[in-house]
Amino acid sequence: MTQLLEKVIALSKRRGFIFPGSEIYGGLQNSWDYGPLGVELKNNIKQLWWERFVRRRDDIVGIDPAMIMNPKVWEASGHVKGFTDPLRECKKCHERWRADQIGDSCLNCGSKDLSVARNFNLLFRTFLGPIEDSSAEVFLRGELAQAMFVDFVNVIKTSRVRVPFGIAAQGQVFRNEITPGNFIFRTREFELMEFEYFIRENEWEKWFEYWRQEMHAWIGLLGIDSTHIHEHEISKEDRAHYSKRTIDFEYDYPFGRKELYGLAYRADFDLKNHMTKSGEDMSYTDPETGDKFVPHVIEPSFGLSRSVLITLLDNYREDGDRVYLKLPPRIAPYKAAVFPLLSNREELRKKARGLYTHLKSQFSVTWDDRGNIGKRYYSQDEIGTPYCITVDFETLEKDDVTIRFRDTAKQERMAVKDIDVFLKNNIA
Ligand code: ATP
Repeated sequence: MTQLLEKVIALSKRRGFIFPGSEIYGGLQNSWDYGPLGVELKNNIKQLWWERFVRRRDDIVGIDPAMIMNPKVWEASGHVKGFTDPLRECKKCHERWRADQIGDSCLNCGSKDLSVARNFNLLFRTFLGPIEDSSAEVFLRGELAQAMFVDFVNVIKTSRVRVPFGIAAQGQVFRNEITPGNFIFRTREFELMEFEYFIRENEWEKWFEYWRQEMHAWIGLLGIDSTHIHEHEISKEDRAHYSKRTIDFEYDYPFGRKELYGLAYRADFDLKNHMTKSGEDMSYTDPETGDKFVPHVIEPSFGLSRSVLITLLDNYREDGDRVYLKLPPRIAPYKAAVFPLLSNREELRKKARGLYTHLKSQFSVTWDDRGNIGKRYYSQDEIGTPYCITVDFETLEKDDVTIRFRDTAKQERMAVKDIDVFLKNNIA
């Protein structure tokens, strides 16, 4: 199984999905850069999420909040004091570990001589402006949720949302993790997609259940086998004190069953908390009944980086010598590749180039005229391109092409005039 991770890491690097960050300077502790194909895959997932949870719905609006917020936000939320992981240091090799992830010996050298656990704060600190003193100290955001609470009043004043409604955001967050690792599973900067769904208290169970199912449906859109997903009900002792229910969605990674996404009922804790600490009224008034109350909230939280990881892992296929990524077409970096059968025949190139330019104005498509057709198929399979279109001598006479399907490796003839509609119908 860990072989699968190694294969995916190698493919990601070889084909330009994800490279080690700052590699020419020796890299930087588990930092990764998304390459030309990785950024397409990641953006497609991001857009699909926004489309599904924001644009197509009447009850969720989006925001794009600043990454650096007033430090009072993080004091109010408890992150400055409590956003910590327990750290233990090996006294022999000085490696540092998260106490809840190791037993009683160092995973590096095996020594049992470990320091006692102390709490390590995960917020990244920096300074605003030119003077580096404590009055200028700020934090890079460690999560998105606080912005949705802080902007709550501005959102209800400026949009026509009515409870139940949600505020969504996507973006980079920063956590100074003690032990990043397992490729992009745990890194110190990563992207999140989440929303706060504001409800009446007496409806929390209904909405919790609704979002639980929606989260499963979303995971299906990434082409993930549902048997690899497991719900982990967080016990009362392990839940935040204000939460009546939290579920972790876990995935069977090659390195074990671990968290993918989270779903939490946060009651009215956050709005009330910011209301007390900022002194601003954060209640909601029902426009019909005049009823004034502080809404409760359900929070579905989706790690984008972990979404990319499971998409690559779960869709990796080997069929004899053939390696292909069975990506759902709508998230594949390229929807189709266009080839001239022979690269040195001008009439084929010209026709193929015309078709390519035409398709490129509507779809994400790529061109390849290197090597032989077999190699080009192999190369597109590896990056998950669902359709390969070849212009050959018959095309010149009959105006049709060979279309080859990634998952079955089967080929068909298709009229050039039908390709647009075919792609439109088959990439959604
Ligand atoms: P853990 O206990 O594993 O550190 P957490 O429970 O603190 O994680 P949350 O605060 O619930 O994580 O984060 C929300 C989501 O963000 C997670 O479900 C996961 O998808 C993602 N995530 C959290 N930490 C990281 C990280 N270091 N790198 C990549 N994704 C992460």
